[in-house]
Amino acid sequence: MRCSRALSLLLGLWLTSARLEAQIFSLSEQQEIELGREASKKVESDMPMLGDGDITGYVNRLGQKLVRNSHRSNLRYSFNVVNSPEINAFALPGGFIYVNRGLLEAADNESEVAGVLGHEISHVVARHSADQMKKAGIANLILGGLGAALGGRGGAVAGITKVGAELGTNAAFMKFSRDDERQADELGARNVYDAGYNPEGMVTFFEKLEHIRKSEPSKLETFFSTHPSPSERVANVSHEIRAFPRKGDLKTDDPDFHTVKSRLSRLPKPPTPKQRR
Ligand SMILES: [Zn+2]
Repeated sequence: MRCSRALSLLLGLWLTSARLEAQIFSLSEQQEIELGREASKKVESDMPMLGDGDITGYVNRLGQKLVRNSHRSNLRYSFNVVNSPEINAFALPGGFIYVNRGLLEAADNESEVAGVLGHEISHVVARHSADQMKKAGIANLILGGLGAALGGRGGAVAGITKVGAELGTNAAFMKFSRDDERQADELGARNVYDAGYNPEGMVTFFEKLEHIRKSEPSKLETFFSTHPSPSERVANVSHEIRAFPRKGDLKTDDPDFHTVKSRLSRLPKPPTPKQRR
């Protein structure tokens, strides 16, 4: 008797998680975009945004060039810069991508920034957010909120808004699986290459991160809590790149990138967390 009750409990749990999985993976593109938009509102109200048109414009132009050569170019992507000295970047569902100021400051040429953007775009292309949402422990919100959103019209807006806000709060600190990261690196390297950029930029940037990890670890706290070790990524991406067909005149740098770097160096320092309160 007791045994059969335990069995039915287990069966119930399994059914719940199977239903949850089905709901997440049956998110329509429109729902994914809505979720990302709600999360982006939260990100932009909670995090300090750089708000410099020239710098954001540059990152957007570079990002859109990559998007055109990606496998999900039908979405409308946006690229924004967070005014934080930490080296980090992250993507929300539906194509909302953020790069920290510290990342632009750490990069030495345009192909390094392209490598990072290619990686983030690939998280959107491969729809890794569904996994991310599960891991972040917001399953209850999804069952309660998004369940209504998917099931009936009444709760749709409230559900998406609630889940989106929760996702936005945790956006920069969410962890994708190791496999997702690996896939984003591989797709990203190919995207960069297809857009005419030197994919080696991805490798040199990872090598730089390994170096900064020793000299200024505080700049990489969030990054290392959410990404696999750069040395592992160097080996994987280098291996991938070797298989790409040889192509002449791949772009490594652009004067616009250095205009952005010198503009950044003249801007006031980013606010400290205390100043932001
Ligand atoms: Zn990633």
